[in-house]
Amino acid sequence: QAATTTSKHTVTKSAEIMKEAQDLLPGGVNSPVRAFKSVGGGPIVFDKVKGAYAFDVDGNKYVDYVGSWGPAIVGHASDEVNEALIAQLAKGTSFGAPCALENELAKAVIDAVPSVEMVRFCNSGTEACLSALRTMRAYTGREKVLKFVGCYHGHADSFLVQAGSGVATLGLPDSPGVPSASTAPTLCATYNDIESVREIFKANKGEIAGVFIEPVVGNSGFIPPTKEFLQALREITEEDGAVLCFDEVMTGFRISYGGAQEHFGVTPDMTTMGKVIGGGLPVGAYGGKREIMDVVAPAGPMYQAGTLSGNPLAMTAGLKTLEILRRDDRAGYKHMDRQTKKLVEGILELGKKHGHAMTGGSISGMFGFFFCEGPVNCFQDAEKTDTAKFAKWHRGMLEEGVYLAPSSYEAGFMSMAHTDEDIEFTLKAADKVLASL
Ligand code: PLP
Repeated sequence: QAATTTSKHTVTKSAEIMKEAQDLLPGGVNSPVRAFKSVGGGPIVFDKVKGAYAFDVDGNKYVDYVGSWGPAIVGHASDEVNEALIAQLAKGTSFGAPCALENELAKAVIDAVPSVEMVRFCNSGTEACLSALRTMRAYTGREKVLKFVGCYHGHADSFLVQAGSGVATLGLPDSPGVPSASTAPTLCATYNDIESVREIFKANKGEIAGVFIEPVVGNSGFIPPTKEFLQALREITEEDGAVLCFDEVMTGFRISYGGAQEHFGVTPDMTTMGKVIGGGLPVGAYGGKREIMDVVAPAGPMYQAGTLSGNPLAMTAGLKTLEILRRDDRAGYKHMDRQTKKLVEGILELGKKHGHAMTGGSISGMFGFFFCEGPVNCFQDAEKTDTAKFAKWHRGMLEEGVYLAPSSYEAGFMSMAHTDEDIEFTLKAADKVLASL
């Protein structure tokens, strides 16, 4: 089915549902960026998704570059994943007891991700990161943690410091309700600026439990690291006895089957994951060196648990998704790499044609662009983006049948299902919208 949209973009039903939702859910949503606050206009309410497309309740069709914020890497509602899920449904949705599928997914993750020798499944990226933080604290006996300005590691108290993503999108200060005692041990450095890391380690020698980093930033928009930056981070943490954790909730199984650590050839001590490994069902995971993971209960004393953790449905969707990604010598990644390059290069060229300052980039199925001159190496650079122009661009693209993340500070995601026609359709829409800005 080719990418087409209804001739006139009307969103009456979406508006009605969102009006009702305002009374029922805080801000009408269950996750803040969905409210479209920074781009204006009402959110689009989806009715169904399939392949590269989303269909809203008013009957509009969109080429979707959000992909449920990353999980839909093999395309939405893949027949193969659905069939596996239906077969599992008949056997039950939650056991609360061990199941063999947990071993299967654990083996797949351990095989794929260089740093992971043992893994614990949980239910979200947030859980994965807060549990990994507790683990590194338990392992080192230290309390401080270093993160980077603009990096998001979920909404646990310790990480809600200069946290990018929805926090940056909404221009929120560090969240009220977070006790200052929780964030006092959180130190912040500047992305791609190794001197800022060195200075913090010098001032806190032997006190930092570990470093959390998005090895490619997706929560300040798309910002790649330099390989040298990641390597230096590896050396500094090793020298100090601090644990290095790559938060690969977004990049894991996305920019490469083995994640950013495989792509850049830098192996951390711990890794957090989510999104793709649940194939569209709620999942998270953290893993790393055996001696570190041995502190996790009941092997060790660090407590972490979950009623629905490792549930058979999420394990099934994850397993089938990883199987599809491995297929044909990982052909899906080559496809996504081609498609994102075509898309981003095409949009940047059109930006130039219409006189807009724009910069952007991609790695395999993850991409982004900013409405400002490049390069963008850190959140402080990303803040130069013209957010008012982005809002108009976002609404214009929506009206043309293209669904982009409703924020300047979010990455975009390609899937294996996006065709050449979808990219051409998107570029035609971009030409029209960029001309109108
Ligand atoms: N870490 C990163 C890098 C993320 O991008 C996200 C979510 O977007 C999270 C952690 C939190 O994951 P979740 O939304 O599943 O709690």
